[in-house]
Amino acid sequence: MRQPALFFGHGSPMNALGGPYADAWRGLGEAVGKPRGVVMVSAHWETEGLGVTAQPNPETIHDFGNFPAELHAMQYPAPGSPELAARVAELTGAAQTTDWGLDHGTRSVLAHVWPEADVPVVQLSLDRLLDARGHFDLARKLAPLRDEGVIVAGSGDFVHNLRTWKRAGGEPYGWATRFNEAVKAALVRGDDDALINWVGLAEEAQMSVPTDEHFLPLLYVAAQRRPGDDVGFFNDVIEGGSISMTGVRIG
Ligand code: ZN
Repeated sequence: MRQPALFFGHGSPMNALGGPYADAWRGLGEAVGKPRGVVMVSAHWETEGLGVTAQPNPETIHDFGNFPAELHAMQYPAPGSPELAARVAELTGAAQTTDWGLDHGTRSVLAHVWPEADVPVVQLSLDRLLDARGHFDLARKLAPLRDEGVIVAGSGDFVHNLRTWKRAGGEPYGWATRFNEAVKAALVRGDDDALINWVGLAEEAQMSVPTDEHFLPLLYVAAQRRPGDDVGFFNDVIEGGSISMTGVRIG
């Protein structure tokens, strides 16, 4: 059973508790069913050298501060999968580690996609020693997983500028809309080079991507595309002017 590849715009850690994006995430889980496992690349795990979480029961990581106690108390007890971690290590050379668990990029969304927490999840780190092309080439090595019943997923935000973000909400900035639409168009036409060289996608692209950790997980998803795959979007909204919640389903 070939599985899709999925990108999630995760936005605020508070989305773990509900909010306007949860319905689409839940609907997606119902549509794709239960895969054998998930390999998730989150914006919130950056390392020097590649790592994959390998423990049978990864802990819930509360990698943020100053949020309500309810959020700090939240657990997402999805199992890990030493077997899947070993497979990812075989494909990519990643070091298997127990130094990380499920961070908020991962569980804020998966808590809605699979609320029963019964789909095994491993996280693959963002290796800061690689450039964008290096991330894409690495992601290609995960290609066999879709046919092994595994969903390759990324969690970030195409547009992620906290400096310009309007807490009280507001219309998207022009540069944010332009970049978000340019990313979607590149995905639809399968233009991997344009995604890798994202600076050239739109004017003022660097306003949308002031640092690239929230963008790079998208490359891991784009790299799973095969000829004939459909590309669809969900939660295609820019929140507070400069945080894109847009999600992508490939295949
Ligand atoms: Zn984030």
